[in-house]
Amino acid sequence: MGCTREDDSEETPMAMNSAAAPINDERTLERALQDAELVPLMATLAYVTGDLSLVAPELQPPRRGKNALIAPQGGMPADLQALCRARALTALRRFRDGGSVVADEPTPETLRAIVQYVTGELAEGYEDLALQELGITTADQEGRRWTKPAVAPDVELSVVVVGAGMSGLAAAHKLHEAGIPFTVLERNADVGGVWLENDYPGCRLDTNNFAYSYSFAQKDDWPQQYSRQPDIRGYFHRIATDFDLRPHIRFGVEVTALKFNETDCSWSVSTRGPDGQASELRCQSVISAVGQLNQPSYPSIPGRDHFRGPSFHTARWDHDVDLAGLRVGVVGSGASAYQVIPSIADEVAELRIFQRTPPWALPAPSYHDDIADGLKYLFQHVPQYHRWFRFYQFWIAVEGMRDFAVVDPEWKGAGAVSAANDSLRSVLTDHIRNQYLHRPDLLDKVLPAYPPYGKRMLRDNGVWAQTLHKEHVMLVTDGIEEVTESGIRTTDGVEHELDVIIWGTGFSASNFLASMSVTGRGGADLHETWAGDARAYLGITVPGFPNLFCLYGPNTNLVLNGSIVMFSELAMNYVLECLHLLLTTGHRAMDVQAPVFEAYNQRVDEANQLMAWGAPGVTNWYKNATGRVSQNWPHSTLDYWDMTRRPNASDYEFL
Ligand code: NAP
Repeated sequence: MGCTREDDSEETPMAMNSAAAPINDERTLERALQDAELVPLMATLAYVTGDLSLVAPELQPPRRGKNALIAPQGGMPADLQALCRARALTALRRFRDGGSVVADEPTPETLRAIVQYVTGELAEGYEDLALQELGITTADQEGRRWTKPAVAPDVELSVVVVGAGMSGLAAAHKLHEAGIPFTVLERNADVGGVWLENDYPGCRLDTNNFAYSYSFAQKDDWPQQYSRQPDIRGYFHRIATDFDLRPHIRFGVEVTALKFNETDCSWSVSTRGPDGQASELRCQSVISAVGQLNQPSYPSIPGRDHFRGPSFHTARWDHDVDLAGLRVGVVGSGASAYQVIPSIADEVAELRIFQRTPPWALPAPSYHDDIADGLKYLFQHVPQYHRWFRFYQFWIAVEGMRDFAVVDPEWKGAGAVSAANDSLRSVLTDHIRNQYLHRPDLLDKVLPAYPPYGKRMLRDNGVWAQTLHKEHVMLVTDGIEEVTESGIRTTDGVEHELDVIIWGTGFSASNFLASMSVTGRGGADLHETWAGDARAYLGITVPGFPNLFCLYGPNTNLVLNGSIVMFSELAMNYVLECLHLLLTTGHRAMDVQAPVFEAYNQRVDEANQLMAWGAPGVTNWYKNATGRVSQNWPHSTLDYWDMTRRPNASDYEFL
């Protein structure tokens, strides 16, 4: 049996924010240092001991410059690695012998030096962001920490959050912390959103999960760096339980309509319950946390309903279908299909992959590996190490890669958008070529023609090429003409006989809030207002829809310039400050000013056109039917962090 659900990891104890264990065995420590990720380790030790010699220039990894690939150990040569290990060992001994006392909070200068060590020369201004990522409360944050009972005990305020996925849980936690009454409405029977709905074989994170986790709930015991779906789902499950959010969540409740009532500035929320029963709630503010990837997309190919065998989407995997010994067709070669295909290949009799566009993938040798024992040991014995590791991962794999996707308008070369993008293209092309040396027939089919980062970048540890080399696996690149009763006919006239068809064809991502009607001021309909081209100020607010806040809304998806979890947290911090404004000013509602919204969107559009995913001719799910990039954030994380710190009251009309 192959395609059953993987074991549920919810019972695995999670060590969020655990205290470091004492270092008793020196030989174990020495062995563990062989597995250490040295750059964040030196930063951690400087941070916990206050000894800046641990991040001295002679211990600095080489500047990354325009290197397209992430070098192991930040590119440190072997002798520098040995020196760092020796200094780390001495520092850890001293730390242990001194009673494992963590130094006082660093001065801004000390912190800047440590952050610069991790990020190199590009880090200007990232110190506060680093502190948040480390889970350290700054004076600024402390000053912003407030609760409704303290600031406005008698003011009425209630919030409905739609969705209990990654963003909805972040919203619930922050509302809970602020003592604001709220209810979360979730259509599924449990929390997790996409991580509940997508449980196809091979489903796992394809970005580092130390970075894909909440700053307020960091974990030092992830089993892998790209954890599997059950582990991620288990994480969200535990967040809901451990942060006491479950009593606030109503499961099996779908929101069908939102309507703003101008008389009292409230929202009516129409719902359908598990029994199909319609009901209504009233609240003052609605937070949409429905995500972008919640509606599977099936291509409109003639005959799609005529197929007689089982047929399902990757996001609606049918676990009752045993694929063993069957002839299986998978349509698509995006992020989902790319994980499914190697996972099912060995159990099926025949596998045909219907590929329209080949994907780019960054080499990631450890993609499927467990975290090395020594690294695990260090996470558990060196205070704050997993936090600096998280910040390092954010930097090297995410924020530090942004330059490779920026369009150079003067660039004339094909298949790339700039010299840096072209250098990435050439490294990735070599990486692909080396995997198909004896299959020139396949090589032609797997080399993408579009610029790297024109679509979602995948992770490659070699299993994709190994799967494509298998004798019973066929990569079909002729277009699909028709689905027949017994399979798929391609434009070259070949009838591909199949027992099962799996649609790895992505999501209707541009249809934001599609599952509900939304009526705002003056009876305006949100979907008519958007006309298929969803926009929001900061991805959060839309003129004419007061007190409606979106998380992971239009133009807040990230290709390589941040963590979506971090973005949802930042957006929620902003929403919380909006609620604070309402509580403390006595206004009932706030509505973003149309000119502010327009100017903001113009800036976003201009910037997106200068990113690889916005370049003319590039097709992807980031562009909507009008051709505008309605999904992605084009700037850096730091920009979004700055813009969402607190609302500017003059951006809003208060009601
Ligand atoms: P996707 O990236 O949109 O890929 C859809 C695939 O279906 C593409 O290969 C597309 O080809 C193909 N396709 C669509 N219509 C077709 C047609 N009519 N004929 C043939 N092929 C067709 O969807 P996805 O793979 O589900 O991924 C969506 C997003 O989900 C990702 O970008 C990522 O953000 C997220 N995701 C994350 C993870 C993770 O972290 N582990 C895993 C999976 C998904 P074209 O490229 O030619 O359009």
